[in-house]
Amino acid sequence: MMGPAHSLSGAAAWLGAGAVAAGLGHPMPWPVLVVGALVCAGAALAPDLDHKAATISRAFGPFSRGLCEVVDKLSSAVYQATRKPGDKRRTGGHRTLTHTWLWAVLIGGGTSLLATTGGRWAVLAVLFVHLVLAVEGLLWRAARVSSDVLVWLLGATSAWILAGLLDEPGGGAGWLFTGPGQEYLWLGLPVVLGALVHDIGDALTVSGCPVLWPIPVGNKRWYPVGPPRGMRFRAGSWVELKVLMPAFMLLGGVGAAAALNFI
Ligand SMILES: [Zn+2]
Repeated sequence: MMGPAHSLSGAAAWLGAGAVAAGLGHPMPWPVLVVGALVCAGAALAPDLDHKAATISRAFGPFSRGLCEVVDKLSSAVYQATRKPGDKRRTGGHRTLTHTWLWAVLIGGGTSLLATTGGRWAVLAVLFVHLVLAVEGLLWRAARVSSDVLVWLLGATSAWILAGLLDEPGGGAGWLFTGPGQEYLWLGLPVVLGALVHDIGDALTVSGCPVLWPIPVGNKRWYPVGPPRGMRFRAGSWVELKVLMPAFMLLGGVGAAAALNFI
């Protein structure tokens, strides 16, 4: 899928998670619902850091372009090193290492670790990066015509305001994990969820997604998971724009209403 559909699916997934959490007796305070949806929308773009034309690789100027090159090289090297006889030969690392469950878990765990141990500035940094991505993803056409600097300013100010809301008593810094020193431990959850939702979205497209790596399937370690051929669609096709994106909006709306106990 393309950036906007990925980020919309990420936001919808977190709102759905909010409904589930409310059902399990851990309702999210509204700042957690809002921040989580935005972080998840941003995180749902992150796996494409292995592709230089992707939103994330363009979002932070030379910094993200450089990081993209490193990630592409690393992904390609890991692919070659762990390839089994059934995996096809390929050049470049797109849709390999960063499109796996293991990557999702590592990135999410790293985010939680950073957020719980790094203090306020670490939380602000995590929010800033993901809010910039969420703005780029969710407001794609609008963000494209404005300048990068403007989007960064929007990301920074919203990160500041939202972190302030979370830090208020009952605001949600200590949601779900209530032990001492566990504030913001939950921040890794929307990051994991966003990456997994991205992988599922890519699995629906023609080339599939090797989300199970490094678990081998037959003689392949990079088995392209996906539905039967006839049910797949091309990235950016009408199915994505006219069916999936409205469906994500609807599901997200229902999830948010359930999460906040309106339904
Ligand atoms: Zn992708």
